Amino acid sequence: MSFDNSTPACTPSPDDGAVSVARVQRIIQDFIKPQHGMELVPVPEALGRVLAADVLSPINVPAHDNSAMDGFALRGTDLPDDGTAVFRIVGTAYAGRPFAGAVGTRECVRIMTGAVMPAQCDTVIPQEQTLERDADFVRLPSGVVHPGDNRRLQGEDLAKDQPAVHRGRVLRPADLGLLASLGVAEVPLRRRLKVAIFSTGDELRSLGEPLEPGCIYDSNRYTLRGMLQRLGCEIIDLGVVRDDPTSLEAALRGACAQADAIITSGGVSVGEADYTKQVMDTLGQVNFWKISMRPGRPMAFGTINSNGKRAYLFGLPGNPVAVMVTFYFFVRDALLHLMGARSQALPRLRALAQADIRKKPGRTEYQRGILSTDDQGQSVVRITGSQGSGVLRSMAEANCMVILGESQGSVCAGDWVDVVVFDGLV
Ligand code: AMP
Ligand code: MG
Repeated sequence: MSFDNSTPACTPSPDDGAVSVARVQRIIQDFIKPQHGMELVPVPEALGRVLAADVLSPINVPAHDNSAMDGFALRGTDLPDDGTAVFRIVGTAYAGRPFAGAVGTRECVRIMTGAVMPAQCDTVIPQEQTLERDADFVRLPSGVVHPGDNRRLQGEDLAKDQPAVHRGRVLRPADLGLLASLGVAEVPLRRRLKVAIFSTGDELRSLGEPLEPGCIYDSNRYTLRGMLQRLGCEIIDLGVVRDDPTSLEAALRGACAQADAIITSGGVSVGEADYTKQVMDTLGQVNFWKISMRPGRPMAFGTINSNGKRAYLFGLPGNPVAVMVTFYFFVRDALLHLMGARSQALPRLRALAQADIRKKPGRTEYQRGILSTDDQGQSVVRITGSQGSGVLRSMAEANCMVILGESQGSVCAGDWVDVVVFDGLV
């Protein structure tokens, strides 16, 4: 992996020292250099992985001129200019069983959809447009088809040696089908990213442990696991790390030894950031940002070195909703870039707010919403209950995030708002 030697620094805005979301996104994206490891993987195992090189089509698709309809294949020049004409039926062409004979003047071949066009034929008249017909002859009208109609040309979907799927593509079900349709059995993929995660906090307990008074179960590692799994990363789960410099340093060193990137949660807010910063400063170059956003204001980003190895570090806030928001809007893009994937900006939709939404200008807000379709077929959105950054239920109940831009103020019912939907059909 190659790293820039400079620190991902940025100038804070003069007011309260906070930097904008867009600026942080740009700094992270510019700083990260894609990894180039590659492996050959069978197509059925390639879903969600990143293609490392263009796959050129080894064949023409379709491989031969073929019929787009069930009907009769003939020479276009034989079509009558007016009135009708009788054609002799000289054979049948099925999909997978071509007609090998010759087709003469005013002769035709009964043809099925997908069957190879007989040698001399360039036109198909659909069955439903024929007039009288017996076993040997068919009468065809004039004016319903033109020479060349209802024929699919060799290579019209994809010509041999043209890129069928491009480098950097995150492979979807349609891509797997397309590759299979070309007879491609294996594809070159970027190797999977190794991402180490841990949570920090003396109050955190892992699943299966008893909960003493004042303690809470660690949820961030589980949301992070889910989000990283969706991105196709290999996850190294290092558990919960206590709030002390020695444990934090040991955890970061351990993570750095194994991973391309490290994602921590907690310990970057005012009060805790000081010792976290000290530890991170001794191990690498890490910037601590106050971002003009809600939730997710504090965040750290940079690189950690240990024993000659380097890894990117994302120090996310501790609050469970803030972890998800900062992951979706900073880490996700960064990891895709690190994987060598083409930019995959989350698609935004617009919906009508069903009720007023309170919002302060000067920061980007990510409110949890429920998107639906009203009686008129219009996309509408309402906010899920409490928007506290620790209320994970607001996230679990939501099916989208309502994004209210930095300069935007409060929203009135009936105003348009931007939303990012959590689940997409891909
Ligand atoms: P911190 O940023 O460490 O000050 O944490 C902010 C808030 O998030 C505190 O209330 C923490 O208890 C909570 N928190 C931190 N980490 C986790 C976690 N892994 N799971 C659930 N809540 C957490
Ligand atoms: Mg903490």
